[in-house]
Amino acid sequence: MTMDKQLVWVRDPNEGFILARLHELMGEEADVFPIDNKYPKRVCSFEDIFPAGDPVKDVDDNCELMFLNEATLLNNILTRYKKSKIYTYVANILLAVNPYEDIPDMYSSNTIKKYQGKSLGELPPHVFAIADKAFRDMKSLKMSQSIIVSGESGAGKTESTKYILKYLCDLWAKGAGPVEQKILDANPILEAFGNAKTTRNNNSSRFGKFMEVHFNNKYQVVGGHISHYLLEKSRICTQSAEERNYHVFYLLCAGAPQDLRTTLKLTKPDEYLYLKNGCTQYFTSPASDKKINANSMSKQHQAKGGLRDPILDDVEDFERLNQALSRVGLTADEKLAVYKVVAAVLHLGNVEFEEDSGARGGCGVAPKSEPALQAAASLLGIDPAALRLSLVSRLMQSSRGGAKGTAIMVPLKTYEANNARDALAKAVYSRLFDYIVHRINTSIPFQASAYYIGVLDIAGFEYFQMNSFEQFCINYCNEKLQQFFNERILKNEQELYKREGLNVPEIRFVDNQDCIDLIESKNHGIFHLLDEESKLPKPEFGHFTHSVHKQLGVNNNRLQLPRSSRLKAHRTLRDDEGFLLRHFAGAVCYNTGTNFVRCIKPNSRMVGRTSEGGLVLTQLQCSGTTAVLELMEHGYPSRAPFHDLHSMYKAYLPPKLQALSPKLFCEAMVHSLGLSDKDYKFGVTRVFFRPGKYSEFDTMMKSDP
Ligand code: ADP
Ligand code: MG
Repeated sequence: MTMDKQLVWVRDPNEGFILARLHELMGEEADVFPIDNKYPKRVCSFEDIFPAGDPVKDVDDNCELMFLNEATLLNNILTRYKKSKIYTYVANILLAVNPYEDIPDMYSSNTIKKYQGKSLGELPPHVFAIADKAFRDMKSLKMSQSIIVSGESGAGKTESTKYILKYLCDLWAKGAGPVEQKILDANPILEAFGNAKTTRNNNSSRFGKFMEVHFNNKYQVVGGHISHYLLEKSRICTQSAEERNYHVFYLLCAGAPQDLRTTLKLTKPDEYLYLKNGCTQYFTSPASDKKINANSMSKQHQAKGGLRDPILDDVEDFERLNQALSRVGLTADEKLAVYKVVAAVLHLGNVEFEEDSGARGGCGVAPKSEPALQAAASLLGIDPAALRLSLVSRLMQSSRGGAKGTAIMVPLKTYEANNARDALAKAVYSRLFDYIVHRINTSIPFQASAYYIGVLDIAGFEYFQMNSFEQFCINYCNEKLQQFFNERILKNEQELYKREGLNVPEIRFVDNQDCIDLIESKNHGIFHLLDEESKLPKPEFGHFTHSVHKQLGVNNNRLQLPRSSRLKAHRTLRDDEGFLLRHFAGAVCYNTGTNFVRCIKPNSRMVGRTSEGGLVLTQLQCSGTTAVLELMEHGYPSRAPFHDLHSMYKAYLPPKLQALSPKLFCEAMVHSLGLSDKDYKFGVTRVFFRPGKYSEFDTMMKSDP
């Protein structure tokens, strides 16, 4: 059958979608001619073809498009991104594409003022609008609010979080007061200790955080609190190629003044094993002038492509850190103590071991590592002999007849001592991080709080070539977050529709409870098996994954053998190489008590004005954003109780109408504005609006004479 040559989007592995004209339909497929003749004519399955509508037009709220599908969503976002409109709504969810460059006036005080008190949709989409909505909702609902900022590494979560905090701190206090300043000061400190250069982001946060801004009942900022999660500990001892350790290590080695470096016994970064594992060389010049030194370092790095990133300036950043630590109240002695712990970790990393030639069969500290051991011990304020002993041996309680007997020292093999050293370094550094966060928290003045707005900035689902316990924890955490969406938002949403008698069809969503059970179930979850394994005298990785498969793998479609093992499957099935867990990918949330900001990385090269459609589409799918569109067909994401609408808008109406009961008042309003009855529904206690319609209503109410 030959068709009218309709304009369509067809799926493309690189671009996400390309524009084409529908040529001929054949059974389940169609012949299409791409508009851009660099692409050949192709045959596509119907599943991969979507009506295009007007491909040039872009809209603030994606739900205003004539055709709601993943292709028009992608096109809308990319069209806007090319015009530096980095923000787009999908109903109440904000999508934020990382521009990788400063957009003039985007976050200025003027812009902050503009967004104050405006409902979502009145002004172009902005992260400030989300912050403002959270603030207004807190006031009108008298309830704490949260903003969940998600996205993959480098998508712009941390920057968005900072802008949200800046907005909340700046605007309502009319310029940052002492509490606000302390909250804002936390960032450079947290970033120095918890951020690192990775291949995906030069300033990648390697921990999750929840920052609360507390308000009193007059809605003034009265306090703040930071909680941190899952600091990546493996990075302290080893990094992937082209990546760095935490910034603070380089700040001290390359950025600190010479006298401090002498006290800390620090030399050049490339003399420390904990800094050398990722990048092969750190270029420093022996020149004494710090500024020139830093500049010449940058140049060398640009030239040689070494580990130092030209946009990171360790000298300036050390100064910033040092001042920020003072501002949160650390004395000179306390700062020195902190720096000593950081330096001690580096020295500890240089302690190497040798097989003991004696009959004990253990190992000892290699003679060339003596100075490192001494330095670590003195900086930590402990006896070097005690440190040595604890690195090369472990304490075992001998038990006789069930009772605890004497403690005996068991010598360690070289590889065991290496593990012990790394475990100590990780424990010391992560305790230091805890201490830093604790000090920041105690420095923020805190008065009795009535409500708070919390902003969550946490890594999204992660997978690498090699995935260890840390990825497992991050992904587990994401499963829990997704479950939170499912539970609190979707299930509640449906219950609310039912209670209010709305008669909206059941909304389906992927329930991930089975995946969570698989991980955390008390008697047979993966965490439980890991606990059991670690209690064995000789725990082994292969044995652990074997028991995961054996005990949990039977008929479980969430759990599979890893790809490499599956390739070998025709020979012998290997289950000791790991396991593959099918995490949540898809499904949905909408209806912003909770407000969502989904950050999107436009390209993998970390540059502005460039987009890779396929990459953006994958992120939209993984965050569940494309699935939200399907729900919009049936949902009513905005709603307001009758009495709230009554008190908000009565001033705009004649006194005769003001006297009506709240419900009658609302009915009178929607009728008088001529809203289509497809755009809203009346529940038992409130009015529900289709996407975008509440803001239309609000604008009409306020502008109607
Ligand atoms: P994530 O926390 O998601 O890993 P970041 O927030 O650290 O990502 O952003 C990575 C980098 O992208 C930042 O260092 C900055 O250079 C750039 N960036 C992110 N958001 C913006 C923005 N709104 N405007 C300009 N540049 C941005
Ligand atoms: Mg981050």
